[in-house]
Amino acid sequence: MCDSSEWNKIYHVKDWDIEQCPHCDFAKIDPLPTRQSRPEMYKKDKVIERNTKKKPAIVRFSRVMKRFWNKVLKRDKSRIFRQKIEKYIAPGKKVLDVGCGDGSFLETIKDRYECYGVEISDYLAELANNRGGMKVRAGDFQSMDFEGQKFDAITLISIIEHVDDPEGTLKKCYELLNDGGVLIQKTVNYNCLNRKIVKDKWTGLRPPDHIIYFDPKNLQQLLKKLGFKSMSASAWAFNDNMYCDAVK
Ligand SMILES: [Zn+2]
Repeated sequence: MCDSSEWNKIYHVKDWDIEQCPHCDFAKIDPLPTRQSRPEMYKKDKVIERNTKKKPAIVRFSRVMKRFWNKVLKRDKSRIFRQKIEKYIAPGKKVLDVGCGDGSFLETIKDRYECYGVEISDYLAELANNRGGMKVRAGDFQSMDFEGQKFDAITLISIIEHVDDPEGTLKKCYELLNDGGVLIQKTVNYNCLNRKIVKDKWTGLRPPDHIIYFDPKNLQQLLKKLGFKSMSASAWAFNDNMYCDAVK
């Protein structure tokens, strides 16, 4: 992110080192999985296996707590993104959800927007298309040809932490947006207090699933470098995730 080539090894999780840049705090796993190995991870049996496998106690505890707070606060996960889209663009505009999974987010906005999705897993893309009201393409976003098609909002919901070339991915989002369009992201926040307290036990460190780690500062720095005009990030100390909106 800052053009430095220095890395400090900070943690060791499973078979991977977690390295952090001493200058901008951007972090990644080492060795970084190649893009060619990724589609294999998202094949139907692997997706089902991951979703049914028993998770470590700390992950299960964190999920139970999240569900509890969502209930107490009557929080609906999609609502945050729906409200963000409504804030930036008018009904009827085009929304692209990159890494849309089974289309559950697009489902909540398809009555108001023209919905498109990209999904690396053929299996999940098929589930999304079966819902109707959305056009979801299966494959690798970065090498996908959109034939000049542009969008008014692009969402990357818990996606960028899985990507080996974040700059290339965000640049592609920039190019696919109309002027005034918005890129809305949610990703793990490497700078959160939870990580500093529990260190290598932090649930955000999930190699080889989560491979790169931004914080609000270096993510906005990169978006600015790519040409986005205005950025706003929100992060809370005890939340493992952050939100970042960037307008072209
Ligand atoms: Zn750096």
